[in-house]
Parts: sequence; C-alpha cells; structure tokens
Amino acid sequence: MLTLAAAALTGGLLVAPGASAEDDTTSDPEGARLRSGTSSLVVVDAKTQKARSKVAALGIDTTSKVTPQGLQAVLHGPADAEVLRDAGFDFTVEDADLAATERKNAKADRQYAATTVRSPLPSGRTSYRTLADYNRELTKLARTYPDLVKPITLKNKSVDGKAVRGIEITTNAKNVRDGKPVFLQMGLHHAREWPTGEHVMEYAYDLLQNYESRSGDKRAKRIVEQSRTIVVPVVNPDGFDISRSATPIGDFSTFDYEMKRKNCSISTTTPAQFTTGTCADNPAGRLRGTDLNRNYPGFWGGPGASATWSSDTYRGDAPGGEPEVDNIRTLISQRQVVTLISNHTYSNLVLRPPSLLSTGQSPDEPVYAALGEKLVGANGYTNQASYQLYDTSGSTEDWSYWNTGGFGFTFEIGATEFHPQYEDGVVAEYLGLKPSTGAGKGGNREAYYQMSLATLDKKLHSTLTGQAPKGHTLKIRKSFVTQTSPVLRPDGSEAPPLYYEDTLTSSYASTGGDFRWSVNPSTRPLVVGRYGREPLGPPQEPTTLTNPAGIPAVNGTEQSTFTIEAPPEADNGTATVTVGWPGTSGDEAVDWDVEIIGPDGTAVASAATLDDPEVAVLVDPKPGEYTVRVTNYAGGAAATDWEGEVTFRSPDPPSYSGIKESWTLTCVKDSNGKVVNTRDVVVDRGKTRDLGGVCNRAQLKR
Ligand SMILES: [Zn+2]
Repeated sequence: MLTLAAAALTGGLLVAPGASAEDDTTSDPEGARLRSGTSSLVVVDAKTQKARSKVAALGIDTTSKVTPQGLQAVLHGPADAEVLRDAGFDFTVEDADLAATERKNAKADRQYAATTVRSPLPSGRTSYRTLADYNRELTKLARTYPDLVKPITLKNKSVDGKAVRGIEITTNAKNVRDGKPVFLQMGLHHAREWPTGEHVMEYAYDLLQNYESRSGDKRAKRIVEQSRTIVVPVVNPDGFDISRSATPIGDFSTFDYEMKRKNCSISTTTPAQFTTGTCADNPAGRLRGTDLNRNYPGFWGGPGASATWSSDTYRGDAPGGEPEVDNIRTLISQRQVVTLISNHTYSNLVLRPPSLLSTGQSPDEPVYAALGEKLVGANGYTNQASYQLYDTSGSTEDWSYWNTGGFGFTFEIGATEFHPQYEDGVVAEYLGLKPSTGAGKGGNREAYYQMSLATLDKKLHSTLTGQAPKGHTLKIRKSFVTQTSPVLRPDGSEAPPLYYEDTLTSSYASTGGDFRWSVNPSTRPLVVGRYGREPLGPPQEPTTLTNPAGIPAVNGTEQSTFTIEAPPEADNGTATVTVGWPGTSGDEAVDWDVEIIGPDGTAVASAATLDDPEVAVLVDPKPGEYTVRVTNYAGGAAATDWEGEVTFRSPDPPSYSGIKESWTLTCVKDSNGKVVNTRDVVVDRGKTRDLGGVCNRAQLKR
C-alpha cells in the first residue's frame, strides 16, 4: 500500500510505494518503536512554552496535552519522528499503535450501545452521532419546540456543498431582534473531535427539557427566557462526515480518514498531483484541507499555524478565507454574541485569549480569568490563557474577543484521545461522572450552565436602555480594519501583515416603550490596551547559580538554589534561569536539563531540550527560595560542566490607550424605512447607557 507521511508531502515529494519501509529503522530505541503506516502517540520533550511553540511550528500533529514530561503529539510514521529529531527534540512513545486503541474503543462503543437502552444523557443517546443524525435531530428539536427553537442555516455551504446548520434557543425564538444577550456554542471545527458536537447537542436538549419540565428548573427557565443560545454542533460538516463515516482502514495512515482534522478546501499552493479526487479519496488523503481553527483573521499568518498546505495546522490561503470560518464570523458579526465556547478535544483545558504570547495580556484579564475559574470549578479542567500551552494564530477567539469584545473560551474536552469511548468522552465528561475530572462537580453540563449564567450577567457585557415607539427598529453598527500578524512564509521569513475589514451590526425591534438591549462594549479590546501591574520595587540584581563540586553520574542530578525577594526590596515580573555549558547545541552527550522547584516544593518550570543554553522563564514568581535541579542523562563531564545565572525583569505595567470607540445607533421607521435619528453611543463593559428617547427627532438636532 502507498504510504505518504506528512513530511514527505510537505515538499510535494511522492514517496515511492514501499520505499518508506526502509526508513523504519532509526538509531534510537524510541524511534524504532514507530512503524511506517502506523500512527503513534508520543510525548515530545518540550517542557517550556517556547519549546512547545517550536514543536507546534514544525507542523507536527500536536495535541493540547502537556504532561510533566512534555507535549503530547501524534506521529504519523517515522518521517514525523525525523522532523522532531532534526529539530533537536526527544520523545517517548506512549501508544505505539493508535489504530489498535481506536479498534478497541470502537468495540467497547458497540458493546455499550448494544447493552444500554438509554444513557443518562438528556437525549439518551448511546453512540456517536453521524452528520445525518445531527441534521435529523436539529429538525426534530425545531418541530418539538416550535416556540423555543429557531432552525438556522449559516450563510455559506461547506467547501463540498453541505449546509451548515444550527438552532437558536429562547422563548419566542423567531424574533432574533429581541435584545437578549447571545451565547454561541460550537462543536466540530476539527473533524475528528467527535465528542464536541455531542456535548453541544446535549446542552440543547438539556436546556429545552429542563425549561419544559414540570418540576420547574428555575435556572433553565431563566436562561431560556432571558438569553439566546445559538448551537452549531458541526462547524465543519465535510471533514466530520468523512472522519465519522468513512470506512476505517484501521492503520491511521494518511489514507485512514478517521483522523482527518481539517476541512476539504484545496489550497492554491497544492502541487497539481495532489489536487485530483474527492476529499474522501484523493492522493493527499486526510491531509487535504485547511485547519479551521487557524484560519480566523485575528492575528492570522503568525506563529503556531503552518504555511504548508499539507500540514495538519495549515492556516489556509487567506485570513478568514474558508467558507466554514466565514459562516461563524458572519454569525458573530450580526448578533451580539457576548459569550461563546468553541469545543475541542482533548487535554482538560479551558483556554482564553491571547493565543500568542507576543500579544500581551487582554485588558479584561482579571475578569476573564475569574470567569474561566468558574467554568473549571465544574469540569475540573485547567484554566489558562491559550498561549501558555503553545503559540497559535488564527484561532476563533483571537478574532472574536479582540474584535467584538465577547468573552470566548476554547474547551479541550477530556483527558485522552480525540474521540475516546462514548461512555467516557461523552457521557462521563458531559454529566461529570467518573472517570472525568469533573466527577462530582457537575462536569461540562454544569460548566455550560455557568457560561449561560455569565451570559445573563450585566457586569460582563454592556447594556443599552431607553424608549422607542412601536413600529421602529434600532440598529447599531461599527466598521473597522485590522492587521493580521506579519505573514510567515514557509521558509520562516516574514511578509508584511495583511488587512481585513469587519462590520459588526445588529438590530432591536421595538415593542414600544422602554427597551433593554444587551450588547458588546463599543470599544474593541484590541485598542483598549493590555493588562499589567505597576512594579512595587526595582527588579532584583542578577544572581549566579552555584555549581556544587563534582559532576553527576548517568541520570544524576545536581542542585542549586536562589531566592526571589519580596517588595519593596524587589518586584519581579519575570525571573529567567539560564544554564549553559561548553559544547555544541544539540549534542545529546553533553546535554543538561533544568527543572525549577518553587518555595512550596512543586515544579514551577523546566527547560529540557537539546538547546545550549537551556532557558526557563518564571512569570510573576512568588517570593521565596527556589531549587534548581540540573540533570545530565548521559553523565556529566568536567570539561562540559554547566554554569548558570538568574536574571530579573520588572513586571509589565498596565498600558491602556484611553481610546474610546462608539457604536453608530440609528432608529428606523419600519413602515417607510426612513432613518428617524442617528447618534454615536459609547458604552463600556459592565455599564448601562440610558439613551432616553432614541427615536425623538429633537435629538437629531443636538
Ligand atoms: Zn480541535
């Protein structure tokens, strides 16, 4: 069978049938465990944000899971292993044959479905839905709850011509101009992440059933009455349909479409020989397509997205250029989406912007982080900024948050696997049952309810109030142009940033008298500034680390200590530990690895690549005594012994621009379409602006 590895495809190079079998033997024992045509789960020895970002930049199929040993990734054969090796990264194999694990899961799923009449999920489902199941159920929900559910079809068909569908849930759902705050729930940007669509559907059932329940679920009633929940379970129907419904080959090779991540578009940079065939059967296999969570225009083209068409993290030909991404962007641009969750698998994370370290902390950081904390209180995940995992660009919230102001999160659902056994990945994770980390805390079900309550919370968005006569429509509108990242070329050089335009607009249909309209803040977070803190003292003077006498044996460790001083003597935004040695970078024989233990005895940072020097950065380090453990796995040598130092930098102070942007509000008379009044409205987050009689002609003159 023809075997193509991602790395071979990147050069547009076709590996001759059978040729890759000879690449199987690598000199290292871990690499030797990888067989071509088989995908493996490995942990790459990348323990710092910088190292993980470097791995992500290689176009390796990284997961979002970070363990104390490093970053988990899927290697699709020995060629991927070589890419890692060439970049100086070690790895250990966790699961040498992912396809075998998947076969085991599929068998368990068949057994669960056969022996379970009804699961405890709101829908009672016992197995992963197909695309047809999703569409059928969306239709059925709209018929079952005609007043509470409005079916929607997004603006663009998918690349292969499929409709992208969803539902909107609220009382009197048909009136989309009702001024209620909107929560957008999305699944399946990434095709193989099957649990994500399931979670989103179950939440729809949950809200509707609990709203209608006779026992009277007050919380669900309040949420359904006072907010609008838009549910788009399958953002990427082409990719999902192929991943879910293609006949598995069972080897997870390039032609086993079950592991497809991207959509179905053919990049203009694809070599001609890979452009033939259908998305489900073509010479590039599952590698055709764009990564939809790298194609959003916000910071598009930067680090952590690939410029190469065949990479699993390919950013696409143009910012926001994919029809499936344009669907979501258009939907958000035409509604006041004050909260959203883009669901992914896996790694038990709740991620918030920024997605790039270089962006700086969001101006809403304290309140944004606190909201994340509420969500992880239910699902037991880790609450962190997206960049802390590794840099990515072009992700959903790095457009939606910075440009619209709505609070968005990425959920990375589950501890292991893109689509684990249904009972674990869906039933347990959704309901908060063992073995999920949300067991006993409510699980993602409760996290979603918390997000719905946050949607109702006036402190988290903005509110416009006033009076308008019946038969009039209020509209708000804002247009602006934003830069992408400098656009990385495949060779690593940078082209200038591109520009993209957004127009945000939405309407409120007056029912006469007082109105209340939940909107996003008028000023974009992008221009508000960045969160930071004022230093309470100078940064500390640099410290030299004492290298104890002697050198460690094979796998041996040496220890050194340093102290972080407290204000007012010193206040440090970062402490940078640098350990170097005589010798060449990338030489395993003399490589030293570094781990730093904090005052409370837990590991706070590490640097364990083949780089010389190793560098570990502590952000906002707590005062106290720190221990540095320096290890040489090959055994140290006097001639190449390490030396180290710690340097300090002040915290970044807050930088707020003072810029205020406004919504342009118009009052239009429905009968003749005439604009009765126009005015600019500035409204900040958490604030209510009382606009008085917004349709009064008198105001026009002011
Ligand atoms: Zn994903």
